[in-house]
Amino acid sequence: MALVSNIRTHFKRLTTADIRLKSIRFFSNQHDENADDQQTPVDPLKDRTKIIPVETSIRYLQSKAYKQTYGENPVWYLYRRNHKGGLAPRKTRRSCVRNGVISTGNPCPICRDQYLVLEPRNTELLQQFISEYTGHILDAFKTGLCQKKHKELLVAIEKAWDHGYLTYDVPFREYDYSLYNKNIN
Ligand SMILES: [Zn+2]
Repeated sequence: MALVSNIRTHFKRLTTADIRLKSIRFFSNQHDENADDQQTPVDPLKDRTKIIPVETSIRYLQSKAYKQTYGENPVWYLYRRNHKGGLAPRKTRRSCVRNGVISTGNPCPICRDQYLVLEPRNTELLQQFISEYTGHILDAFKTGLCQKKHKELLVAIEKAWDHGYLTYDVPFREYDYSLYNKNIN
């Protein structure tokens, strides 16, 4: 009997010690996590949690800073995708932003500049993504937009067409038929 009681007391001690240890670890872990959050502040250039109003974006597209950055080219014109091998994969990245912070070294043209807001009223930006030859929306393969932003772009352009901010124009083409048939002038 003495042996059994001995074992019991030993076991009790062990379990209480275990609980104490665990509680200490639990609290210490929590403390560590908090400390980590404080130690790594988010880079303001990569922070995408701030919501920028469309009016600011529209003004930005008219500004000198914008002209200096992009000139007369569309925003996606000088962007090049990073990929393995000689041929770019058909699908672009799913998203450039994770938990409100840019998670890639080569974010897409819309994600890299936080003042480019995809909204139906921002027609000057949306027009850069519509082909001047066909009137169709350019593919993400050409513009390099991530899939998330490309979907947002499609929604914004469709809304702009619906609300009348953009008109769906197929440009008129003049053909010189004499090039195809010499009998027609
Ligand atoms: Zn992106």
